[in-house]
Amino acid sequence: MLEKFDLEIYSLIEKELMRESETVNLIASENYVSKAVMEATGSILTNKYAEGYPSRRYYGGCEFIDRIESIAISRVKKIFNAEHANVQPHSGSQANMAVYLSCAKAGDTILGMDICAGGHLSHGTKVSFSGIIFNAVCYGVNPDTELIDYNEIEKIAQKYKPKIIICGASAYPRIIDFNRFAGIAKNVNAYLCSDMAHIAGLVAANLHPSPVPVSDFVTSTTHKTLRGPRGGFILCKERYARSVDKSIFPGIQGGPLMHIVAAKAVAFKEAETGDFRKYQTQIVKNARFFAEKLRELDYRLVTGGTDNHMLLVDLRNKKITGVECQNILEKVNIIVNKNSIPFDPSGATITSGLRIGTAAITTRGMKENEILKIIEFIDEALHYKDYPEKLENIRKGVKDFVMQFPIYT
Ligand SMILES: *Cc1c(COP(=O)(O)O)cnc(C)c1O
Repeated sequence: MLEKFDLEIYSLIEKELMRESETVNLIASENYVSKAVMEATGSILTNKYAEGYPSRRYYGGCEFIDRIESIAISRVKKIFNAEHANVQPHSGSQANMAVYLSCAKAGDTILGMDICAGGHLSHGTKVSFSGIIFNAVCYGVNPDTELIDYNEIEKIAQKYKPKIIICGASAYPRIIDFNRFAGIAKNVNAYLCSDMAHIAGLVAANLHPSPVPVSDFVTSTTHKTLRGPRGGFILCKERYARSVDKSIFPGIQGGPLMHIVAAKAVAFKEAETGDFRKYQTQIVKNARFFAEKLRELDYRLVTGGTDNHMLLVDLRNKKITGVECQNILEKVNIIVNKNSIPFDPSGATITSGLRIGTAAITTRGMKENEILKIIEFIDEALHYKDYPEKLENIRKGVKDFVMQFPIYT
């Protein structure tokens, strides 16, 4: 159908499928959804308006929609042992926005992790709604250990008395002590919003401590380690249920994307299986192995290693910048992203680091042996970065290698 009507878009989708198939994806925030999740995202549910919540809608014809959303809600509550869930946020940023607006007003102070230290845009960056609407202050990491410095955060919190403290990160390879954050928030009478976007899959599989028991609000995406469709959700204590729901709709969103809500429900069902736990366990094993082997080749890792699904490589001793490295690796079909490292001497467009994640390659069935191979490719490509013919040979090798691990069979 699409091919007949719009060949231009059809062939670009086909090209993207080939690109995804032929490249090693080490982007820490990406993954491949199952065919079941994909089927729900491509379903007729995209036709339906359903402003409101199950059995409290502003549109007729919501009989089945209500059941779908209720199933998504009860599944995600069960996985994370949460009192209340909202599965309508279109993205992780929307989830954060809804939480902030549910408990703070424009101009109030919020405290989040500095984007340069691994935080997310929506945690108070100047260019984001979070830094535009609110008076955002931030915390970083300790310069010596590169770890979150809880004593320092306590001091900053005492000084600025934020209305909300946000924890969670986009580029932090270690366990986050949500308990400690909860203590700090309690001491300054702030709400705690824990953003588990990156690690939601690990939390679901009990491979990272859960923020849910100790946080007022937990926000997440569904499309990173959790391996669902692009989207977000919010978990909160029952006492905030009404204000969170009102904040999403009618506060910042109109109708929910019901095809995506259905796909979230499917992904949540997958997350309850034993296979999913095995998958998450392998993600973490793969990341640790990746870190260990890179270290053996004299790559310096921020914080020295990893506890989760990602690693941050400091490239400075390799005399190459993050952006150069990203570009060279892309030439050999290895997709990574440049990333600032803590106290990065280069700006955000250059950077001195590389962020590597194992969620996507683990979905493709890759384990320790394949990681050895990938590291060999990476090291070789960087070594021959000025030899286009060598790079082309490596690219062919990567392609042949990765095609043995089809995404969709
Ligand atoms: C990815 C991410 C988000 C939100 O992502 P969207 O692109 O808005 O879906 C929020 N918080 C953290 C920590 C993230 O890593």
